[in-house]
Order: sequence, then C-alpha cells, then structure tokens
Amino acid sequence: MNRVYNFSAGPSMLPEAVLRRAAGEMLDYQGSGQSVMEMSHRSKVYEGIINSAESLLREVMNIPDNYKVLFLQGGASSQFAMVPMNLMTKNNKADFVITGQWATKAYKEAARYGAANVVASSKDKTFSYIPELDPAAFDKEADYFHICMNNTIYGTKFHTLPDTGSVPLVADISSCILSEPIDVSKFGLLYAGAQKNMAPAGLTVVIIREDLIGHAMDITPTMFDYQIHADNGSMYNTPPCYTIYMAMLVLDWLKNTIGGLDEMKKINEKKAGMLYGFLDASKLFRGTVEPQDRSLMNVPFVTGDEELDKKFVKAAEAEGFVNLKGHRSVGGMRASIYNAMPTEGVEKLVAFMEKFEKENA
Ligand code: PMP
Repeated sequence: MNRVYNFSAGPSMLPEAVLRRAAGEMLDYQGSGQSVMEMSHRSKVYEGIINSAESLLREVMNIPDNYKVLFLQGGASSQFAMVPMNLMTKNNKADFVITGQWATKAYKEAARYGAANVVASSKDKTFSYIPELDPAAFDKEADYFHICMNNTIYGTKFHTLPDTGSVPLVADISSCILSEPIDVSKFGLLYAGAQKNMAPAGLTVVIIREDLIGHAMDITPTMFDYQIHADNGSMYNTPPCYTIYMAMLVLDWLKNTIGGLDEMKKINEKKAGMLYGFLDASKLFRGTVEPQDRSLMNVPFVTGDEELDKKFVKAAEAEGFVNLKGHRSVGGMRASIYNAMPTEGVEKLVAFMEKFEKENA
C-alpha cells in the first residue's frame, strides 16, 4: 500500500488508525450484523453512535450545557443562509469582517435577508492579513457579528477575538475546528463543515447558545430552522449517519490517542512551526501571510515565479506530496496541515523543499 501525504484543503486526510478501525467494523458493527452504512437511524445501535459522537464533541471541545450541538447537512455554505434566517430577526442587521472568499459569501448571503454591514476588510492586500478592528465601528444593535475564524484559502487566522459585548459572535470554524482549544462561551454560534478536521464530507456541525434558538424568520424553510433540529435531536430527517459515525471515531482518537485539544495544539504548532521556519529562512520560497496572522492549518507560499511554482507542484506530486497547488483564486502553493497530517509528513515535505531549493537556486 502506498499512501500519499495529502495536503488538500478539504476533504483531507483522516487519521490512519480511524480508517483502519472503520475498515475493521465495515461489515459488522459491534456484533449488530450490519454496517453502519446500512443501519436505520432510528435503531438503538445507531442511537448509541450519534449520542456518543455528541458527548465526545462536548467533552473534547468543553461545550457548556447551555449550548446545543446540531448535526446537519448542506455544508458550511448552507449556514451562510441559515444563520441570518434564524438570528437576523430582532433588528434585521448584522456586522461582518471580510477576510476572504468564505467570509464574503457569508456576508453576501446574509445581505439577502437583512442589512449586512462590513466592519473591516483585508481585500486591499489579497486577504493576506487580519484587519484591525475598531469597536467604535461595531453596531451595538446588530443581531450578530460574523467572522470566518480561519481563512482556508489565504491562510490567515484570528488570534484574538473581537469584543462584541452583548452582540452574539458567530464564527465559521470549518478549517480550524478541533485544531486547538476554543472558548465556546465567547460565541453565540459556531459552525463548521466536517471535511477537514472531523470526518469525511457530508456533515455540518452547529454549536448554538440555546437562547438564540426559536427566532427564525417566517419564510425559513423547515429544514433551515435550528429549532426543528434542536427539538428533534438532529433526527428530524435522516442524518448523515456514516459521517457522524466517522466523526465519533475521529473524536475518540482525539481524546484517547492524542490526549485532547491542548495536546493537538502542541502537535499542530510543531508542524506549522517547521514549515513557517523553513519558509522564513528560505531564499527561494516565501510565505504570503503577515506573520502575526498566520494559520496553524493552511500555509500558502510562493516562489515568486509561476513556472517554478508549477514545476514544484509537479515534482512534489511525483514524490507523494499531493494537492499542494494553491487555490485557483490565488495561485502558488498551499499546504493544508490538518490534525491528521502526520508530523513526519511535514518533515518530509520540508526536506523535499530544501532539496528543490538547492536544485533550483
Ligand atoms: N467556510 C470555510 C472556512 C471553508 O474552508 C469552506 C470550504 N472549504 C466553506 C466554508 C464551505 O464549506 P462547504 O463546502 O462545506 O459548504
């Protein structure tokens, strides 16, 4: 078997131990005589899986009791509409920080349902930094304040959270969930697509403070109402059963093999540190993000020569380092080093980059 080091921004690598466990349980899940793929979501055995996925997520992320965890579908992209339909309902307005494509999509979608106000943007420098936020520019009457915490395409991250006072802070944490501890109590709502740090694609997790549930606009489709999903334990309709099972295995791995999010953070800092350290010292490659705003998960870099970038991506692929091409909107390279990327994968990538640098100096 020849597994590659997959640096994709998502879907991305899953821990090998998790894949092996899933393979071992594929035909007969714990004596049930069936695969989790085949199971009724209303069965006792599946109830055990979804409950265990939720309690592991609560434990690993230290989610307070006054928050609901919802297992939904439709990707993080559906949340761009679902959040305003459910939250933008008191004063019909919300604040946005524009730090990249996903933040822009969240803003544009919300603008269809109310007054979406841009508080700050980093578009002037291709989203290579997190803009300074002036609390005087925040609308105290906003129904929520939205940020994209980790900007997958550009490789930036909010290292300090805006102080929004009593206005609920809402964050898209698709590409940083479970990468390090996060103080859930600072947020009104968190959402994430699962396909980076949690599971295969198909599951969207929403963590929402209870008082924000139950205020949806009248036009809200039933499937887009948080209340419906909260009242039905994420079982109003058929949930993405197998993906939730995979999330349970990943969370079990995070808790029992890694030792929780403090440990995961140390590993992620070590991996990102190796790559950034190399980029800072390199005469050929350079990172594209302001150092103080760098992401732990997505590391974009360039040589400054598009042809050489292409040559690098091709040569890397031949050595088993795949999906290093940058997002089509920015070019260059991007190494996404999510939780499941082994430290050894980053070590080997850096060694390969050193070799490439020598050969192409
Ligand atoms: N937000 C962020 C930060 C993302 O990285 C992505 C996907 N890469 C999305 C939203 C969109 O997620 P989905 O494809 O699950 O709708």
